[in-house]
Amino acid sequence: MNLELSGEQQAVRDLARDFVEREISPHAVDWDRSESVDRSIVKKLGSVGFLGLTIDEEYGGSGGDHLAYCLVTEELGRGDSSVRGIVSVSLGLVAKTIAAWGGEEQKRRWLPRLTAGEALGCFGLTEPGTGSDAGNLTTRAVRDGGDYVINGSKMFITNGTWADVVLLFARTNDTPGHRGVSAFLVPADTPGLTRRTIRGKLGLRGQATAELVLEDVRVPADALLGPEGKGFSIAMSALAKGRMSVAAGCVGIARAALEAAVGYAGEREQFGRPIASYQLVQELISDTAVDVDAARLLTWRVADLVDRGEDFATAASKAKLFASEAAVRAANNALQVFGGYGYIDEYPVGKLLRDARVMTLYEGTSQIQKLIIGRALTGVSAF
Ligand code: FAD
Repeated sequence: MNLELSGEQQAVRDLARDFVEREISPHAVDWDRSESVDRSIVKKLGSVGFLGLTIDEEYGGSGGDHLAYCLVTEELGRGDSSVRGIVSVSLGLVAKTIAAWGGEEQKRRWLPRLTAGEALGCFGLTEPGTGSDAGNLTTRAVRDGGDYVINGSKMFITNGTWADVVLLFARTNDTPGHRGVSAFLVPADTPGLTRRTIRGKLGLRGQATAELVLEDVRVPADALLGPEGKGFSIAMSALAKGRMSVAAGCVGIARAALEAAVGYAGEREQFGRPIASYQLVQELISDTAVDVDAARLLTWRVADLVDRGEDFATAASKAKLFASEAAVRAANNALQVFGGYGYIDEYPVGKLLRDARVMTLYEGTSQIQKLIIGRALTGVSAF
């Protein structure tokens, strides 16, 4: 694995760093307090190409490899995890899945708008009764002539209230033992689809997370993405790449925590000396520095495997597991360095901890990542 960045990769990272400094960091605290990013950020992300990374230029994408995608995601995660998540879902889970599984017409219809930030996508898998056990979802799509009629509900859907298209997973076959799940591209303005924003989240407060309810939602048969019955595999392959993106975002959180801790430790004096001079404070900082490097290397390893067309699913689970837990540790260590000031939201580290916490929960909890890794090593499924 070549750890040196190409000129192109460095340029896109620098562009992302500059974008974050100008367009995100100055607003992140306000967006967190008001529970909403300024939605104009979506168009801005599209105009610099961050919503089209890895997607072919033919469909409006900005191309680039998966390492470049991780570099941008790390920078966005360092600036504001809410923005990072908007990109990881609309590009990482929705546009990339359409690019991988969509027919020509589906790609032409959705990709140029998604990559430009003129439309947002959301990924509708989780339901009120099925989270980790996503394969047992109960939303149902029944064939009716040339259409499918969909009924059910979805929970915790990132971008849910703002999205223009829902990549929706629904059951199309009830045969016992048959996964029978299919993927659909449902325009969000389809009659019968209602959305409710979930307020009061611990972190990622700038994002519109929603509950979706589908009552007799009628879509034409060409809304089906990929073959009927393949939906669960489509969801799992999307999530495997999604985990790489979450991991990269976590590296960004951990880096932000490290930078904040180092800065504060150098300024804050107690017992007549900067707290940076105390060994126990240095331990908090050095543990975090090791976590940042380790999480980044695991994440880049996934990007390298993806770009070389090799199997990356287990590596993605390892990266996501480690990086998400590392981000929580890093933010918690930084909060400790800040002492009481870390506990109030005038300082940045409390937000980092709140934003980091969900990373160990979504796109598969830490326990689920361990089961995926354990299954790959032992050949035995413990689900
Ligand atoms: P459960 O599955 O009920 O798990 C509860 C606990 O039980 C966890 O600790 C879990 O690890 C443990 N557990 C469950 N099964 C096992 C097992 N077999 N062995 C050991 N432990 C187990 N979903 C989407 O589809 N799209 C989105 O865009 C999206 N965005 C989200 C955004 C936010 C802010 C949040 C909070 C969630 C989001 N989710 C989304 C849902 C997320 O993926 C689920 O919350 C997650 O998969 C866990 O499911 P659950 O919450 O139902 O917990």
